[in-house]
Amino acid sequence: MSGSDLYRRNAFWITGLPVDVDRRTARRRKQELTAAMRVGAHIAGPAASADPQEVQAAFDVMLGDPRRRLVHEVFGRWGPPAGCDCLQIVHDDHNRAVRSHAAALAVDPAEVLADAMAGQVNESWPRAAAAWSKTLRSAAFWRHLHHRVEQIDDRQLDASIVDALRRELPIVLVQPLLQLIADAPYPAPLRQCLRSWPVPAHELDRLVEQAAEPLYAEFDRIVGELQTTLETGDVDGTVDSLHERANPVLARMAGMAPGSRHRRTRAAHNMAAVVLNNCAMADYHRTGQYRERARSWLAEAEKLATDPDTTERIQTNRWNLVENERAISDFRTTIDQIRRGQGPSRAVQVLRMVRAQTTDEGMLKVIDEMLSEMGATATVGSAWSPEPATRGLSALAEVMTALVVIGVLLAVCCMLYDVVS
Ligand SMILES: [Zn+2]
Repeated sequence: MSGSDLYRRNAFWITGLPVDVDRRTARRRKQELTAAMRVGAHIAGPAASADPQEVQAAFDVMLGDPRRRLVHEVFGRWGPPAGCDCLQIVHDDHNRAVRSHAAALAVDPAEVLADAMAGQVNESWPRAAAAWSKTLRSAAFWRHLHHRVEQIDDRQLDASIVDALRRELPIVLVQPLLQLIADAPYPAPLRQCLRSWPVPAHELDRLVEQAAEPLYAEFDRIVGELQTTLETGDVDGTVDSLHERANPVLARMAGMAPGSRHRRTRAAHNMAAVVLNNCAMADYHRTGQYRERARSWLAEAEKLATDPDTTERIQTNRWNLVENERAISDFRTTIDQIRRGQGPSRAVQVLRMVRAQTTDEGMLKVIDEMLSEMGATATVGSAWSPEPATRGLSALAEVMTALVVIGVLLAVCCMLYDVVS
């Protein structure tokens, strides 16, 4: 049983029988109901279901599986104490827990969200948690279950089932809420409702992560696709897809299993940061420019990063790209001075020489752009023919200047690296 089935599919609720019904009465009721259903007759009595399969399953539990029968008793409505030595209030408290939990499960999660947005707490969940907590704390409740084990008197049943229930009940009780949280588009307000259930924090963390598993898997799948898209060189497609598909999953993940408590959520955010960083670097390598969009992606990546090492790499990349821009601007100035002082063909010659020394894709783009501005091409490549002796010294000095600038550039460009996952 899971979710609202805890109460809706309860064997006693379905058959309309009291939780302490004896086997003979149950068997007789089964015959009545089965016969009535066979002829499609209206079923007299308080049975809640007219579905033959559901009714059959309920009787299977009640008559054939004493352990599950006892569990169904826990989630059924108890009548007045009869031979169990409980005070009426023990049964009343238990029934209040059942009623309030079933009521909370019937509340539309959208209502809980609307209340949270209005700054209010929807009381249905805290009420259910408080009522069940009280019941689970009550020694009389557990005494009642021991009494029931004796009454059912089945070889498959002994006191150990009550110990098992002590361990498992809190988890079973919180499962329907976890399922609602997992299905919610905005899970944070429902997550708040987890607080008051009597489950230890570390156990709750484990259950939350278990419930978030499909979300983690979906995120991993999307990131795998993003990496493939980026490998094909489609930077825009990768960033668009990250924003449209991965970010909503991350938001749900953070609402359901916040990074402050869940390592896998932190890892997912860090992975998104890595993708954005790599997109920014790919954009730089492709264009040779540190464009506004790459700036915004790196800023976004820095906010998403959760691993200090990744944060440091992103910061280094941002710093290097800014330095690169400055070096390129200086380089342009130097080439411009050569062009004005000694003519365009000399500037082209220097550019071609420098081009032959660099392997950095972005740098090559910049040089090709400058060559094309001067109406030249890169094709002559590395050939560096010495100038006549009269001009040799000054030419060499200029080239040295250019090389110093390029040296800076190359050093900076070599330091640039993509963060790898
Ligand atoms: Zn009792």
